[in-house]
Amino acid sequence: MILVSGCLIGLNCKYNGGNNFHKNLIEFLKDKEFIVVCPEQMGGLSTPRLPCEIMSGDGRDVLQGSSKIKNNMGEDLTESFVKGAEETLKIARICKAKTAILKAKSPSCGSEDIYNGKFEGKIKRGMGVTAALLRKNGVLVFNEDNYLNYDF
Ligand code: SF4
Repeated sequence: MILVSGCLIGLNCKYNGGNNFHKNLIEFLKDKEFIVVCPEQMGGLSTPRLPCEIMSGDGRDVLQGSSKIKNNMGEDLTESFVKGAEETLKIARICKAKTAILKAKSPSCGSEDIYNGKFEGKIKRGMGVTAALLRKNGVLVFNEDNYLNYDF
C-alpha cells in the first residue's frame, strides 16, 4: 500500500483550490494499491486557504516544538499541520503502508525541499511536517520527481 498526496492525483485540495495532477504518476499507480491523503485537509484546514510556510528549520523542528507553521498573514497554524501529520500516520498504520509518494516542496508533504519561511518563493533543503513524521516512523517518502528511483 502506497500513501499518495491527493493533489497529485487531481483532487482539488491544494491551498488555492486547484491540484497538481501528475499524469505519469496516475499511469504508474494504475496496477498498484494506494490510498489518498491530504494532511492539511485532515488537519482541519479549509480549501482554499492562504499559503503557509515553516518559519525556521523544517518539519522535524515543528514536531519538536522549536518551529512554527504560519500563513502569509502571520496566523499560527502549527497545531492543524501537526494534527494532519498525525492523522496521515494513523492511516499509514491502519493500511500498513511502508511507502509514500507526496507532493514536493509542501510544508506538509515536501520530502526534499521546502520554502524558506519568508514567502519569497525561495526553496531550501528540508522536509514538511507530514513527511518528517512518516519518516520518523519508518515510512519511505518519495515525491513526484524521484519515485521512479524505488522499486515499489
Ligand atoms: S501537498 Fe499535501 S497537504 Fe498540500 S494539498 Fe497536496 S496532499 Fe494536501
